[in-house]
Amino acid sequence: MTVYLANTSLFRKDALIDGAWRPAADGARRPVHNPATGALVAEVAECGPDDAERAIAAAVKAQAQWRNRTGAQRHDVLTRWHDLVMDNLDDLATLIVTEQGKPRAEAAGEIRYAASFLLWFAGEAMRAYGDVIPPTNPATRLSVIRQPVGVCAAITPWNFPAAMITRKAGPALAAGCAMIVKPSEQTPLTALALAELAVQAGVPSGLLQVLPGDGIRLGKALCASSDIRKLSFTGSTQVGRILMAQSAPTLKRLSLELGGNAPFIVFDDAHIDQAVKSAIAAKYRNAGQTCVCANRFLVQDGIYDAFATRFATAVSELRVGPGSDPESVIGPLISAQARDKVEAHVRDAVEHGATVLCGGARDSAGDLFYRPTVLRDTTPAMRIAHEETFGPVAPLFRFRTEAEAIAMANDTEYGLAAYFFTRDHARVHRVAEALEYGMVGHNTGLISNEVAPFGGIKQSGMGREGSRYGMDEYMEMKYICTDIT
Ligand code: ADP
Repeated sequence: MTVYLANTSLFRKDALIDGAWRPAADGARRPVHNPATGALVAEVAECGPDDAERAIAAAVKAQAQWRNRTGAQRHDVLTRWHDLVMDNLDDLATLIVTEQGKPRAEAAGEIRYAASFLLWFAGEAMRAYGDVIPPTNPATRLSVIRQPVGVCAAITPWNFPAAMITRKAGPALAAGCAMIVKPSEQTPLTALALAELAVQAGVPSGLLQVLPGDGIRLGKALCASSDIRKLSFTGSTQVGRILMAQSAPTLKRLSLELGGNAPFIVFDDAHIDQAVKSAIAAKYRNAGQTCVCANRFLVQDGIYDAFATRFATAVSELRVGPGSDPESVIGPLISAQARDKVEAHVRDAVEHGATVLCGGARDSAGDLFYRPTVLRDTTPAMRIAHEETFGPVAPLFRFRTEAEAIAMANDTEYGLAAYFFTRDHARVHRVAEALEYGMVGHNTGLISNEVAPFGGIKQSGMGREGSRYGMDEYMEMKYICTDIT
């Protein structure tokens, strides 16, 4: 299929290695398909270990120069990159719609979100302060400086093809690091377009490189290198565990943004319209394919029936269709495997006694489309209670007391995002503190932005992205003790 872009320089199919667009060393290519139609979009370079080696050598050289640039110089480059991303918003959104499938308005929102990290970290580049510590011995002076970690690698997923890259590359470059990005096999085109804009913005050769290719093969090559001092990964918990094990021999620093199983708790005293509206925002964004999407709706006895009815009515009005249609709000799932998992979860729930209030089946819009679904009377015995569905399905569980809700919410190995709805001021503090999650939304289903720390606890990972803490992931502290006698 032809992809129509105003700026054709953004349609890149080769890897960006050492400042040049190159095919893979062995010439291999991998197809990228449009999930809405199955059409072939492009054949993209499929990099392997030789390409990784070349990129690592270039990154080492580039980082040695970049680390000596001032914060203000790094700020200027990142700001230019931000501006170019915003100038090319429509084309970048087109690439996301084409290779990832989300509705156009969401894709444009993702580009704004992606750009916000570049601007935020451009500012942080100028504020990488250290400390002066009052000494214990009058003959000494103690200080702490913060220095870049060095060469970093990022392995990113398909659900946010742009934002997951800028959220890692932004702070890395701001801190004085080099970054090698391995984008998802399903969505390399957005990553390559962002890299083209980075080149145009004046990011030096070798400082930001993009290696499309197989996760397992490139993951091994990147993890094995002792020149790569840090790995930042966003994806499944299962792959996070593999990468952590593979990083052990070289003791890399790690940021891991992994799976979630977000509870969305509605107490009897919630404002029901607000809860319904937020439930739709927290569940159906990107057809339910985000790691902070609400996965389990825990609804208190007294409001359960009213919430179920209002929610299902609103969900049944969500329009399913290709992301390129401005009317669509639910696009395709990313793959047949993803759709099969959604189907399996719904089937299992129904077999164990759940009732389908709306949806519950594939949609005629295409092979990978699934109707937004609400299930009532789901129980902890069902698969959907424990596994991340990653699709447009909302299971409604019932609870009676606050203590029961908290116990149910925390009964998972995950700890990324949680949401709760109440107008009781004291309960806000009790519940927010008791939830074992890295991020909590109170009376809101939308919590992500560039100024707040994004990240999870338990088996949802480690490290924080965005916010003033995001820079810490890419900086080492060095303590200096001087004898002044
Ligand atoms: P998702 O379920 O979101 O596709 P994955 O964790 O499978 O999540 O994929 C996220 C990223 O991890 C992709 O870029 C993929 O290529 C990469 N990946 C998958 N398996 C491995 C692996 N064994 N080692 C390194 N990277 C991997």
